[in-house]
Amino acid sequence: MKLWEMLFVRATVDRAESTGRFRHVRLRAGALRDAEWRPGQQVRLHVGAEGALAPVLRTYSVWDRAGDTVELRVLLHGDGPGARWTAAVRAGDEVLLSKPKGDFVTRTAPYHLFVGEETASVAFGPMLRALPEPERAASRAVVEVAGPEDRLDLDGDVTWVQRDGESAADSKGLVRAVQLLDLPGEPGRAYVAGEARTVQAVRQHLVRDRGWPRRSVLTKPFWTPGKRGME
Ligand SMILES: Cc1cc2nc3c(=O)[nH]c(=O)nc-3n(C[C@H](O)[C@H](O)[C@H](O)COP(=O)(O)OP(=O)(O)OC[C@H]3O[C@@H](n4cnc5c(N)ncnc54)[C@H](O)[C@@H]3O)c2cc1C
Repeated sequence: MKLWEMLFVRATVDRAESTGRFRHVRLRAGALRDAEWRPGQQVRLHVGAEGALAPVLRTYSVWDRAGDTVELRVLLHGDGPGARWTAAVRAGDEVLLSKPKGDFVTRTAPYHLFVGEETASVAFGPMLRALPEPERAASRAVVEVAGPEDRLDLDGDVTWVQRDGESAADSKGLVRAVQLLDLPGEPGRAYVAGEARTVQAVRQHLVRDRGWPRRSVLTKPFWTPGKRGME
């Protein structure tokens, strides 16, 4: 058995459907039943040809988890290996995946701020759902999408920003929307994910303009132009 076969679980695709540019993929594997998952964590999928010398891996946040399944929401764009695998996948296919892991998870705070684009909203969904009241009631999310059809169902107070044909990379629109937010005087806890340069710009605004401590802003770059598979 190869090393990577010991680190990954073989799952069956249970469901694969599309809404907007999102593909909803549910994976089922007995080994997932007891796997721990904290909202905001991700799995890594083998999206290349099985048996290839070097596995091609792509990372996807877990949208939901129940029993022996994980639900993913993969945004289709371009023709990278992740996009090709996701566009072609059908119920009954098999795939190797890692168990959920990662430290992009909520910490206790008086309120939470979630900022990102479509791919980041996949992580935000379960993070918001799992927050205890009144933390969720006091939370804010700012999510940039290409159009309304790419809005995922997020709990809480969400400001949707429409991209209107602009690039998702180094997004001025998302930063502006965060600048315009009426937030409490005291810092909360921010979770900023998605395109790397936009993530940096949002963090810079919170730290430099609003005086939030750096440790209060948790960042996770998911992708950036010209870079293939960030993790
Ligand atoms: C921790 C983590 C969690 C993630 N969670 C999700 C998730 O839940 N859902 C999801 O769809 N993706 C998620 N991603 C992104 C995902 O891992 C891949 O980067 C993405 O699917 C692109 O893979 P690819 O093989 O199709 O393209 P690649 O070959 O990796 O990239 C090809 C080109 O596409 C560009 N690109 C990548 N993503 C985008 C985008 N969103 N918009 C425009 N251009 C892009 C790249 O910059 C690159 O130039 C996550 C990434 C990380 C690191």
